[in-house]
Amino acid sequence: MERIPAKTELGKRGALVADVNCSRCGLEPESTNHILSSCIWARAIWWQIRVWLKLPNPDQTDAPAQILKWIDTLAGLKDWKNVVIAIAFTTLWQIWKARNDMEFEQKSISIHKTVEDIKMYSYGLKTRDRWCD
Ligand SMILES: [Zn+2]
Repeated sequence: MERIPAKTELGKRGALVADVNCSRCGLEPESTNHILSSCIWARAIWWQIRVWLKLPNPDQTDAPAQILKWIDTLAGLKDWKNVVIAIAFTTLWQIWKARNDMEFEQKSISIHKTVEDIKMYSYGLKTRDRWCD
């Protein structure tokens, strides 16, 4: 809902932001949707998680809301969808956390490390349900 404090949001709220571009790619203004889904860095993470979960390719992934809506349209049992949604929220959280590590601590968390962390935090879901191996 564009409410997390991305640089463009901070600018709208009157904060002085020297450079509104994304700290990861540097190509576009840093909005919530950009950080969490449309940045090439986020897209690479989502792609790896989608492959890990053996999910088809979504049509629209420019915003977290589109990703969650797409998950809802997938065929499958409700329990399985709930697992996928929980992993999607874990993915959003880890992308945001890695962005903050870069922004505030100049600590670059690789795509590989972010994906491994998402898998680690999703491990309980993964072992409880047999759809993800
Ligand atoms: Zn970017």
